[in-house]
Amino acid sequence: MSPSIPLVNLQRQHAELKSELLAAAESVMDRNAFIQGPDVSEFERGFSDLLGVSEVVGCSNGTSALALALEAVGVRAGDEVITVSHTFIATGEAIKHVGATPILVDVDAHTYTMSPKSLEAAITRRTRAVVPVHLYGTPADMDSIFEICKDRGLKVVEDAAQAHLATYKGRHVGELGDAASFSFYPGKNLGALGDAGAVATNDQVVAQKVRLLRDHGRTEKYVHEVVGYNRRMDGMQGAFLSAKLPYLTRWTARRRELASRYDAALGPSGFQIMEVDRQARSAYHLYVVQASNRNEVMDSMQKAGIGVGIHYPVPLHRQPAFSNGSTRRKELDVTDRLSERILSLPICPFIREEEVDRVCEHFLDVACP
Ligand SMILES: *Cc1c(COP(=O)(O)O)cnc(C)c1O
Repeated sequence: MSPSIPLVNLQRQHAELKSELLAAAESVMDRNAFIQGPDVSEFERGFSDLLGVSEVVGCSNGTSALALALEAVGVRAGDEVITVSHTFIATGEAIKHVGATPILVDVDAHTYTMSPKSLEAAITRRTRAVVPVHLYGTPADMDSIFEICKDRGLKVVEDAAQAHLATYKGRHVGELGDAASFSFYPGKNLGALGDAGAVATNDQVVAQKVRLLRDHGRTEKYVHEVVGYNRRMDGMQGAFLSAKLPYLTRWTARRRELASRYDAALGPSGFQIMEVDRQARSAYHLYVVQASNRNEVMDSMQKAGIGVGIHYPVPLHRQPAFSNGSTRRKELDVTDRLSERILSLPICPFIREEEVDRVCEHFLDVACP
Protein backbone atom coordinates (compact mmCIF):
# COMPACT_ATOMS: atom_id res chain seq x y z
CA MET A 1 0.00 0.00 0.00
CA SER A 2 1.20 3.51 -0.72
CA PRO A 3 2.24 5.59 2.31
CA SER A 4 -0.34 7.70 4.07
CA ILE A 5 -0.80 11.41 3.38
CA PRO A 6 -1.41 13.46 6.53
CA LEU A 7 -3.62 16.58 6.47
CA VAL A 8 -0.57 18.63 7.53
CA ASN A 9 2.92 17.20 7.18
CA LEU A 10 4.83 18.78 10.06
CA GLN A 11 7.28 15.90 10.07
CA ARG A 12 8.76 16.91 6.73
CA GLN A 13 8.87 20.58 7.74
CA HIS A 14 10.70 19.85 10.97
CA ALA A 15 13.08 17.34 9.39
CA GLU A 16 14.17 20.07 6.98
CA LEU A 17 14.55 22.74 9.68
CA LYS A 18 15.79 20.53 12.52
CA SER A 19 19.29 21.97 12.91
CA GLU A 20 18.03 25.57 12.78
CA LEU A 21 15.33 24.86 15.37
CA LEU A 22 17.76 23.09 17.71
CA ALA A 23 20.20 26.00 17.41
CA ALA A 24 17.37 28.42 18.24
CA ALA A 25 16.46 26.41 21.36
CA GLU A 26 20.07 26.29 22.44
CA SER A 27 20.50 30.04 22.16
CA VAL A 28 17.40 30.65 24.30
CA MET A 29 18.80 28.30 26.94
CA ASP A 30 22.20 29.98 26.83
CA ARG A 31 20.59 33.39 27.26
CA ASN A 32 18.24 32.18 30.02
CA ALA A 33 15.41 34.19 28.40
CA PHE A 34 12.39 31.94 28.66
CA ILE A 35 9.47 34.35 29.01
CA GLN A 36 9.18 37.15 26.43
CA GLY A 37 12.67 38.66 26.20
CA PRO A 38 14.87 39.37 23.17
CA ASP A 39 13.76 36.37 21.11
CA VAL A 40 10.12 37.40 21.29
CA SER A 41 11.01 41.03 20.48
CA GLU A 42 13.02 39.90 17.48
CA PHE A 43 10.12 37.85 16.17
CA GLU A 44 7.69 40.73 16.76
CA ARG A 45 9.91 43.00 14.64
CA GLY A 46 10.37 40.40 11.91
CA PHE A 47 6.66 39.59 11.62
CA SER A 48 5.61 43.26 11.69
CA ASP A 49 8.11 44.03 8.89
CA LEU A 50 6.80 41.16 6.79
CA LEU A 51 3.16 42.12 7.33
CA GLY A 52 3.80 45.81 6.86
CA VAL A 53 2.13 46.68 10.14
CA SER A 54 3.66 48.99 12.74
CA GLU A 55 3.13 46.81 15.82
CA VAL A 56 3.08 43.09 16.56
CA VAL A 57 2.68 41.95 20.16
CA GLY A 58 3.49 38.30 20.90
CA CYS A 59 0.97 36.42 23.05
CA SER A 60 0.49 32.98 24.55
CA ASN A 61 -1.84 31.77 21.77
CA GLY A 62 -4.32 32.97 19.16
CA THR A 63 -7.33 32.80 21.46
CA SER A 64 -5.72 35.03 24.10
CA ALA A 65 -4.47 37.37 21.35
CA LEU A 66 -8.03 37.86 20.07
CA ALA A 67 -9.38 38.49 23.58
CA LEU A 68 -6.59 41.01 24.28
CA ALA A 69 -7.20 42.76 20.95
CA LEU A 70 -10.92 43.07 21.75
CA GLU A 71 -10.23 44.43 25.23
CA ALA A 72 -7.63 46.86 23.88
CA VAL A 73 -9.98 48.35 21.27
CA GLY A 74 -12.53 48.96 24.03
CA VAL A 75 -14.94 45.99 24.06
CA ARG A 76 -16.45 45.67 27.52
CA ALA A 77 -18.85 43.43 29.46
CA GLY A 78 -22.37 43.81 28.14
CA ASP A 79 -21.29 44.75 24.61
CA GLU A 80 -22.32 42.74 21.59
CA VAL A 81 -19.65 41.58 19.16
CA ILE A 82 -20.71 40.25 15.78
CA THR A 83 -18.82 37.35 14.25
CA VAL A 84 -19.54 34.31 12.09
CA SER A 85 -20.90 31.01 13.32
CA HIS A 86 -18.79 29.23 10.72
CA THR A 87 -15.42 29.43 12.49
CA PHE A 88 -13.28 27.68 15.08
CA ILE A 89 -14.78 27.81 18.57
CA ALA A 90 -11.97 30.12 19.79
CA THR A 91 -13.43 33.12 17.93
CA GLY A 92 -16.60 32.94 20.02
CA GLU A 93 -14.71 32.07 23.20
CA ALA A 94 -12.47 35.13 22.98
CA ILE A 95 -15.57 37.36 22.75
CA LYS A 96 -16.98 35.65 25.86
CA HIS A 97 -13.66 36.07 27.67
CA VAL A 98 -14.04 39.86 27.62
CA GLY A 99 -17.58 39.56 28.95
CA ALA A 100 -19.24 40.44 25.64
CA THR A 101 -21.98 38.53 23.84
CA PRO A 102 -21.09 36.91 20.52
CA ILE A 103 -23.77 37.55 17.91
CA LEU A 104 -23.37 34.88 15.26
CA VAL A 105 -24.11 35.67 11.63
CA ASP A 106 -24.05 33.75 8.36
CA VAL A 107 -21.30 33.47 5.76
CA ASP A 108 -21.23 34.01 2.02
CA ALA A 109 -21.96 30.79 0.10
CA HIS A 110 -18.91 31.23 -2.16
CA THR A 111 -16.07 32.63 -0.04
CA TYR A 112 -17.24 31.11 3.28
CA THR A 113 -16.45 34.40 5.04
CA MET A 114 -18.78 36.90 6.76
CA SER A 115 -21.88 37.88 4.78
CA PRO A 116 -22.09 41.70 4.87
CA LYS A 117 -25.88 41.48 4.57
CA SER A 118 -26.11 39.16 7.54
CA LEU A 119 -23.76 41.47 9.48
CA GLU A 120 -25.84 44.55 8.75
CA ALA A 121 -29.04 42.82 9.90
CA ALA A 122 -27.47 41.87 13.25
CA ILE A 123 -26.37 45.35 14.38
CA THR A 124 -28.08 46.78 17.46
CA ARG A 125 -27.44 49.70 19.82
CA ARG A 126 -25.25 47.39 21.90
CA THR A 127 -22.96 46.35 19.05
CA ARG A 128 -19.41 47.48 19.78
CA ALA A 129 -17.21 45.50 17.41
CA VAL A 130 -17.16 43.12 14.46
CA VAL A 131 -14.80 40.16 14.08
CA PRO A 132 -14.46 39.01 10.47
CA VAL A 133 -12.65 35.66 10.22
CA HIS A 134 -10.35 35.07 7.25
CA LEU A 135 -11.33 31.42 7.31
CA TYR A 136 -9.18 28.87 5.47
CA GLY A 137 -6.85 31.79 4.70
CA THR A 138 -9.39 33.55 2.49
CA PRO A 139 -9.81 37.28 3.21
CA ALA A 140 -13.29 38.40 4.19
CA ASP A 141 -15.10 41.07 2.14
CA MET A 142 -13.39 43.89 4.02
CA ASP A 143 -14.58 46.83 1.88
CA SER A 144 -18.23 45.97 2.50
CA ILE A 145 -17.56 45.27 6.18
CA PHE A 146 -15.74 48.61 6.68
CA GLU A 147 -18.47 50.42 4.81
CA ILE A 148 -21.05 49.04 7.28
CA CYS A 149 -18.89 49.62 10.39
CA LYS A 150 -17.53 53.07 9.56
CA ASP A 151 -20.68 55.20 9.94
CA ARG A 152 -21.72 53.35 13.07
CA GLY A 153 -18.37 53.70 14.86
CA LEU A 154 -17.90 49.93 15.18
CA LYS A 155 -14.41 48.53 15.77
CA VAL A 156 -13.14 45.85 13.39
CA VAL A 157 -10.87 43.15 14.81
CA GLU A 158 -9.71 40.59 12.24
CA ASP A 159 -9.34 36.94 13.23
CA ALA A 160 -6.35 36.17 11.01
CA ALA A 161 -5.43 32.91 12.77
CA GLN A 162 -5.55 31.03 9.46
CA ALA A 163 -4.45 33.78 7.12
CA HIS A 164 -0.74 34.66 7.46
CA LEU A 165 0.25 36.62 4.33
CA ALA A 166 -3.17 36.47 2.70
CA THR A 167 -3.77 39.75 0.86
CA TYR A 168 -6.72 42.02 0.21
CA LYS A 169 -6.25 44.67 -2.46
CA GLY A 170 -2.49 44.24 -2.20
CA ARG A 171 -2.30 44.63 1.59
CA HIS A 172 -1.81 41.82 4.05
CA VAL A 173 -4.72 40.86 6.24
CA GLY A 174 -3.94 41.76 9.81
CA GLU A 175 -3.22 45.39 8.92
CA LEU A 176 -6.70 46.24 7.69
CA GLY A 177 -8.78 46.58 10.85
CA ASP A 178 -8.31 48.31 14.21
CA ALA A 179 -6.40 45.21 15.30
CA ALA A 180 -5.94 41.59 14.28
CA SER A 181 -5.08 38.33 15.98
CA PHE A 182 -2.82 35.59 14.64
CA SER A 183 -2.27 32.04 15.87
CA PHE A 184 1.00 30.15 15.65
CA TYR A 185 -0.49 26.83 16.75
CA PRO A 186 1.85 24.18 15.26
CA GLY A 187 -0.46 23.30 12.36
CA LYS A 188 -1.10 26.91 11.28
CA ASN A 189 0.67 28.40 8.22
CA LEU A 190 3.38 29.70 10.55
CA GLY A 191 3.56 27.33 13.51
CA ALA A 192 5.48 27.37 16.77
CA LEU A 193 6.59 24.20 18.53
CA GLY A 194 3.85 24.73 21.08
CA ASP A 195 1.22 27.41 21.66
CA ALA A 196 1.79 31.00 20.53
CA GLY A 197 -0.13 33.91 19.02
CA ALA A 198 0.10 37.64 18.36
CA VAL A 199 -1.84 40.85 17.99
CA ALA A 200 -1.04 43.07 14.99
CA THR A 201 -2.12 46.71 14.80
CA ASN A 202 -1.16 50.09 13.36
CA ASP A 203 -2.49 51.78 16.49
CA GLN A 204 0.24 52.50 19.06
CA VAL A 205 -2.30 52.91 21.86
CA VAL A 206 -3.91 49.53 21.16
CA ALA A 207 -0.48 47.87 20.99
CA GLN A 208 0.53 49.45 24.30
CA LYS A 209 -2.64 48.20 25.98
CA VAL A 210 -2.03 44.68 24.72
CA ARG A 211 1.57 44.80 25.99
CA LEU A 212 0.31 45.89 29.40
CA LEU A 213 -2.53 43.35 29.61
CA ARG A 214 -0.51 40.33 28.45
CA ASP A 215 2.01 40.79 31.28
CA HIS A 216 -0.03 41.24 34.48
CA GLY A 217 -0.75 44.91 33.77
CA ARG A 218 2.88 45.61 34.61
CA THR A 219 4.50 48.96 33.73
CA GLU A 220 7.73 48.27 35.63
CA LYS A 221 8.93 45.77 38.17
CA TYR A 222 6.44 45.58 41.09
CA VAL A 223 4.11 48.17 39.51
CA HIS A 224 0.82 46.86 38.11
CA GLU A 225 -1.24 49.63 36.59
CA VAL A 226 -4.25 47.50 35.66
CA VAL A 227 -5.40 43.96 36.35
CA GLY A 228 -3.96 42.02 33.44
CA TYR A 229 -3.25 38.43 32.54
CA ASN A 230 -0.42 36.03 32.02
CA ARG A 231 -0.67 35.76 28.23
CA ARG A 232 2.98 36.19 27.28
CA MET A 233 4.84 34.40 24.51
CA ASP A 234 7.64 32.01 25.53
CA GLY A 235 11.17 32.92 24.49
CA MET A 236 11.52 29.44 22.94
CA GLN A 237 8.48 29.98 20.73
CA GLY A 238 9.74 33.41 19.70
CA ALA A 239 13.06 31.88 18.63
CA PHE A 240 11.39 28.98 16.77
CA LEU A 241 9.07 31.40 14.97
CA SER A 242 11.99 33.65 13.96
CA ALA A 243 13.77 30.60 12.55
CA LYS A 244 10.72 29.68 10.44
CA LEU A 245 9.71 33.21 9.41
CA PRO A 246 12.13 33.53 6.45
CA TYR A 247 10.36 30.58 4.79
CA LEU A 248 6.81 31.86 5.16
CA THR A 249 6.66 33.73 1.84
CA ARG A 250 7.86 30.68 -0.10
CA TRP A 251 5.56 28.36 1.85
CA THR A 252 2.58 30.59 1.09
CA ALA A 253 3.41 30.61 -2.63
CA ARG A 254 3.63 26.82 -2.52
CA ARG A 255 0.20 26.56 -0.85
CA ARG A 256 -1.24 28.68 -3.68
CA GLU A 257 0.33 26.39 -6.30
CA LEU A 258 -1.11 23.32 -4.65
CA ALA A 259 -4.54 24.95 -4.33
CA SER A 260 -4.48 25.69 -8.08
CA ARG A 261 -3.65 22.06 -8.71
CA TYR A 262 -6.66 20.98 -6.63
CA ASP A 263 -8.87 23.59 -8.35
CA ALA A 264 -7.87 22.34 -11.79
CA ALA A 265 -8.58 18.73 -10.88
CA LEU A 266 -11.86 19.18 -8.98
CA GLY A 267 -13.52 22.32 -10.35
CA PRO A 268 -14.17 21.02 -13.89
CA SER A 269 -15.84 17.90 -12.44
CA GLY A 270 -18.59 20.07 -11.00
CA PHE A 271 -17.44 20.29 -7.39
CA GLN A 272 -17.87 23.50 -5.43
CA ILE A 273 -14.30 24.62 -4.77
CA MET A 274 -12.98 27.58 -2.75
CA GLU A 275 -13.77 30.95 -4.31
CA VAL A 276 -11.63 33.98 -3.58
CA ASP A 277 -12.54 37.59 -4.42
CA ARG A 278 -10.63 38.86 -7.47
CA GLN A 279 -9.02 41.54 -5.29
CA ALA A 280 -7.85 39.05 -2.68
CA ARG A 281 -5.37 36.20 -2.41
CA SER A 282 -5.96 33.36 -0.02
CA ALA A 283 -3.18 31.89 2.12
CA TYR A 284 -4.87 28.47 1.78
CA HIS A 285 -4.48 27.32 5.36
CA LEU A 286 -6.99 24.65 4.35
CA TYR A 287 -8.19 23.36 1.02
CA VAL A 288 -11.93 22.85 1.33
CA VAL A 289 -14.23 21.21 -1.20
CA GLN A 290 -17.93 20.32 -0.99
CA ALA A 291 -19.51 16.92 -1.55
CA SER A 292 -23.12 15.84 -1.11
CA ASN A 293 -21.93 12.46 0.27
CA ARG A 294 -19.28 14.06 2.48
CA ASN A 295 -19.34 11.53 5.33
CA GLU A 296 -18.98 8.59 2.97
CA VAL A 297 -16.08 10.32 1.20
CA MET A 298 -14.41 11.05 4.51
CA ASP A 299 -14.62 7.41 5.67
CA SER A 300 -13.30 6.12 2.41
CA MET A 301 -10.36 8.54 2.31
CA GLN A 302 -9.43 7.89 5.91
CA LYS A 303 -9.41 4.15 5.24
CA ALA A 304 -7.04 4.81 2.34
CA GLY A 305 -4.63 6.65 4.67
CA ILE A 306 -5.51 10.14 3.45
CA GLY A 307 -5.77 12.68 6.26
CA VAL A 308 -8.97 14.64 5.75
CA GLY A 309 -10.89 16.85 8.18
CA ILE A 310 -14.01 18.96 8.61
CA HIS A 311 -13.60 22.62 9.50
CA TYR A 312 -16.06 22.68 11.11
CA PRO A 313 -18.77 20.02 11.53
CA VAL A 314 -20.68 21.83 14.30
CA PRO A 315 -21.07 25.60 13.84
CA LEU A 316 -20.92 27.80 16.94
CA HIS A 317 -24.68 28.44 17.04
CA ARG A 318 -25.19 24.68 17.45
CA GLN A 319 -22.53 24.21 20.13
CA PRO A 320 -23.77 23.57 23.69
CA ALA A 321 -21.38 26.28 24.91
CA PHE A 322 -23.15 28.92 22.83
CA SER A 323 -26.75 27.78 23.07
CA ASN A 324 -27.53 29.20 26.50
CA GLY A 325 -29.73 31.98 25.19
CA SER A 326 -27.07 34.69 25.37
CA THR A 327 -26.54 34.35 21.64
CA ARG A 328 -29.44 35.43 19.46
CA ARG A 329 -30.08 32.63 17.07
CA LYS A 330 -30.96 33.55 13.52
CA GLU A 331 -31.42 31.36 10.51
CA LEU A 332 -27.91 30.55 9.38
CA ASP A 333 -28.76 28.58 6.25
CA VAL A 334 -25.42 28.77 4.47
CA THR A 335 -23.51 27.85 7.63
CA ASP A 336 -25.76 24.85 8.32
CA ARG A 337 -25.54 23.63 4.75
CA LEU A 338 -21.74 23.99 4.67
CA SER A 339 -21.27 22.10 7.92
CA GLU A 340 -22.79 19.03 6.24
CA ARG A 341 -20.96 19.30 2.92
CA ILE A 342 -17.43 20.56 3.51
CA LEU A 343 -14.30 18.44 3.53
CA SER A 344 -10.71 19.62 4.03
CA LEU A 345 -8.11 17.88 1.85
CA PRO A 346 -4.39 17.71 2.69
CA ILE A 347 -2.54 20.93 1.94
CA CYS A 348 0.76 22.21 3.33
CA PRO A 349 4.01 23.32 1.70
CA PHE A 350 5.55 19.87 2.17
CA ILE A 351 2.98 17.82 0.30
CA ARG A 352 4.21 16.57 -3.06
CA GLU A 353 2.35 17.07 -6.30
CA GLU A 354 1.93 13.33 -6.83
CA GLU A 355 0.33 13.16 -3.39
CA VAL A 356 -2.17 15.86 -4.33
CA ASP A 357 -2.90 13.90 -7.52
CA ARG A 358 -3.51 10.73 -5.50
CA VAL A 359 -5.87 12.61 -3.17
CA CYS A 360 -7.78 14.01 -6.16
CA GLU A 361 -8.05 10.61 -7.82
CA HIS A 362 -9.49 9.05 -4.70
CA PHE A 363 -11.84 11.97 -4.11
CA LEU A 364 -13.17 11.91 -7.68
CA ASP A 365 -13.70 8.14 -7.40
CA VAL A 366 -16.04 8.37 -4.42
CA ALA A 367 -17.41 11.92 -4.17
CA CYS A 368 -20.62 13.34 -5.64
CA PRO A 369 -20.96 17.11 -6.23
C1 LIG B 1 -6.49 28.45 15.52
C2 LIG B 1 -7.57 29.46 15.53
C3 LIG B 1 -7.77 30.29 16.65
C4 LIG B 1 -7.11 30.11 17.97
O1 LIG B 1 -5.76 30.01 17.98
P1 LIG B 1 -5.00 29.22 19.15
O2 LIG B 1 -3.58 29.62 18.94
O3 LIG B 1 -5.23 27.77 18.92
O4 LIG B 1 -5.55 29.68 20.45
C5 LIG B 1 -8.72 31.30 16.53
N1 LIG B 1 -9.45 31.46 15.41
C6 LIG B 1 -9.31 30.66 14.35
C7 LIG B 1 -10.13 30.90 13.13
C8 LIG B 1 -8.38 29.61 14.38
O5 LIG B 1 -8.24 28.82 13.31
